[in-house]
Amino acid sequence: MGNSSIREQIKNVFSGGLGTGHLGEVGSRPVIAVLLLIALVTGAGKLWGDDMGLTNILMLYMLPVIFASVRMGVKPSIFIALVSVLCWDVFFVPPVLNLTVSDPRQLITLLVFMLVAYATGSMSDRLRDRIREAVQRENRTRILYETARGLAAVTEMNVLAQQVVSQTAAALDAEAALFMPGSGGRLKAVAANKSLTDLASSPNDLLAAQWAFDHRQPSGLSTDLFPGARGYHVPVQTEDKVLGVLSVKPANHWLEPERINLLQALAGLSALAVLRLELAEEAQEIKSLEASEKLRAALFNSISHDLKTPLTSILASVSSLVDDDTIYDQQQKATLLKGIKQGAERMYRFISNLLDMARLESGYLKLNADWYDIQDIVGVTLRENQEILEEHSIQVDIPDDTPLIKVDYALAEQVLTNLLHNAVKYSPPHTAIRISVTHTEGALMVAVVDQGEGIPPGDEELIFDKFYRLQSPRNVSGTGLGLSICRGIIEAHGGRIWAVNRSEGGSQFNFILPIAPEAPLP
Ligand code: ADP
Repeated sequence: MGNSSIREQIKNVFSGGLGTGHLGEVGSRPVIAVLLLIALVTGAGKLWGDDMGLTNILMLYMLPVIFASVRMGVKPSIFIALVSVLCWDVFFVPPVLNLTVSDPRQLITLLVFMLVAYATGSMSDRLRDRIREAVQRENRTRILYETARGLAAVTEMNVLAQQVVSQTAAALDAEAALFMPGSGGRLKAVAANKSLTDLASSPNDLLAAQWAFDHRQPSGLSTDLFPGARGYHVPVQTEDKVLGVLSVKPANHWLEPERINLLQALAGLSALAVLRLELAEEAQEIKSLEASEKLRAALFNSISHDLKTPLTSILASVSSLVDDDTIYDQQQKATLLKGIKQGAERMYRFISNLLDMARLESGYLKLNADWYDIQDIVGVTLRENQEILEEHSIQVDIPDDTPLIKVDYALAEQVLTNLLHNAVKYSPPHTAIRISVTHTEGALMVAVVDQGEGIPPGDEELIFDKFYRLQSPRNVSGTGLGLSICRGIIEAHGGRIWAVNRSEGGSQFNFILPIAPEAPLP
């Protein structure tokens, strides 16, 4: 429903199309009709009066009275009763063309006519009021429903404010403005349906709006407060919080109780909508606070595990080598040096992961893509990680006709390294880790399969989230960054990565990369 149709409905309801019984409010058509009816009855009486007799003519004069009471209500119909009895008296009761009001019988006739007029008139007045109320209620419900539906779809505060103001202005045929508190609780207009409306700028209205906000009560026009104000100001509030003030300046400078009710209902709806957005914003803030809290905890954890632990062991080995060089034989020195190398590599991996994550997050990841053979990438990755893989048996299965793929070599190696490290971390020693490559037209799929503990059902997607870690029975350390970095890299290549649990135990991490149509064979 557009704003214009809301306005039409409201006009119908408040324009007094259904009279309230005052002659001044009745349209001219029923008046003309009832006068014609009186003239008709008088004419008929004159023509056939001799046959009808006085009483029947008097009965005919009851017709305009009943018509008037049904169409116009109590007051006009009493007036018509008086006119009818006078006509009957003047035109028919002998002496004709003379008023015989002094006759007590005419007074009784007049009284009966007035009683009939009063009884039928007040009944039809009541009926009209009921109909009027029902129509008002229906329109009010429709307007509120449409407004609520419109506001529910809005997700931004400034759009919401604008919508509240335009719906209110249309529904009440008025200028409207919405005030919300700024710094120090001072109200300021956040939206108005007319840029030059007094509501947002006149000092009287600003004072009245601020009063309504501070005292949680309406003020201004149609109230005894702030006589200089041109608008009616109603607080936009929930049970425990005032969120702002909705103000209207009606075109006819007056607000009937029906419009005040409607405005208050609109203010209630607006309060709910504003509160919904405020809560959504708060939830978002809490979410980002939680994320940064998680980041802080994860970093703290990782710095102690992945930096301090290897650094301590490096320091201890280096001190032993420097201070007690002579007591170690060649093999012991080689073991110490190997420990130093592994510690340094662990630190290096951790720092690279953090840097990669930062690059991915900031959008600064630039792909240095070229044509590579996946066989080379897998071979080099296995060679570079042979020390951590030495307790597992590694199986590689890559068909010879696998086409070249266009990737960033270092990043592809990083994905494989992270997946292999996880396979080692989350599966017992002396089990097999398999890398298999398959391809179809347009896509190359790499699977890293282990025989480890697997992923708890339901967590297959979540483990790709940043800092998402599961408690492992083997109590391995980690940052929860590895898989999210893999996903970032694969998606930057236009591919997809996911994890599945294998029915025979262990997990399988798959990623697919697109193969360009012009991809050469190795
Ligand atoms: P990290 O290994 O540093 O904790 P990742 O992002 O690499 O972080 O992995 C996230 C979580 O996914 C891990 O904590 C682990 O619970 C689970 N996970 C990853 N790889 C495997 C695997 N091969 N087998 C079982 N669980 C795994």
